[in-house]
Amino acid sequence: MVSVPDLTTKEAPTWCPGCGNFGILAAEKMAISELGLDPKKVIEVSGIGCASLFPHWIKVNACETLHGRTLPVASGIKFANRNLNVLVHAGDGDAYGIGMGHFIHTMRRNVDLTFIVHDNQVYALTKGQYSPTTPKGRVSSTTPHGAIEIPVNPIALALNSNCTFVARGFAGDIPHLKELIKQGIQHKGFSLISVFQPCVSYNKINTAEWWREHIYKLEETGYKPDNKIEALKKANEWGDKIPIGVFYKEEKPTYEDQVPVIKEKELVDQDISNVDISKILEKYY
Ligand code: SF4
Repeated sequence: MVSVPDLTTKEAPTWCPGCGNFGILAAEKMAISELGLDPKKVIEVSGIGCASLFPHWIKVNACETLHGRTLPVASGIKFANRNLNVLVHAGDGDAYGIGMGHFIHTMRRNVDLTFIVHDNQVYALTKGQYSPTTPKGRVSSTTPHGAIEIPVNPIALALNSNCTFVARGFAGDIPHLKELIKQGIQHKGFSLISVFQPCVSYNKINTAEWWREHIYKLEETGYKPDNKIEALKKANEWGDKIPIGVFYKEEKPTYEDQVPVIKEKELVDQDISNVDISKILEKYY
């Protein structure tokens, strides 16, 4: 079985000391180890940003793509080889800003991906501009008079986009986050795990201490994640008490299970020796 040290790279992450990304990295390594996944059958897909450096520091396959384009690339990988565990990492700007269209469409397709969003409420790599999850009124380097827009609610958005596994974790609670990631990987279909990730450099308000004072765990209240109306009520709870945990899950056929050309046999296992693409290529000469 792969151990956490087996998954650890020689190079140490270059994130700022105290960054929440360290907790997410630790939780994911533990999840992979405890599930006994073969690292050769795990691939990390990321975009651009502090969160997207994630694949540099875990010893599995990796593909770092363009800003906002993680989900189309990850979907293509999954369609080619459904045997792979495809884990996708993006920050809130990447996932809920430029990648918003892909986010909604991949959820309604129910592609079997695990999407882990590092939500620190700012664009951190580019020095703290406001992002789609920045609270209204928050002062940032690009909102000197306070952010005007109402922030995106990723949990409510996922529920209304027919996401089949909707969860939220906190980077400062590694054992809890590890369990969410394990559940997300085991879920057959699209799983969203949105993670409150403290950014010690550009978000001085929502610190690890702030989150600890405000979050509570749904499962400790007897909550059952099987009712979308109740899940939506929880998704809209924000203030003194903010829920984390699994909001909703259901089983539905995945997109790839419904595509005739790949549902019986993986694309990577199909015989292409008799496929003639010369006619198509002629168009490009
Ligand atoms: Fe982490 Fe923020 Fe530093 Fe980026 S800028 S590495 S998100 S603490």
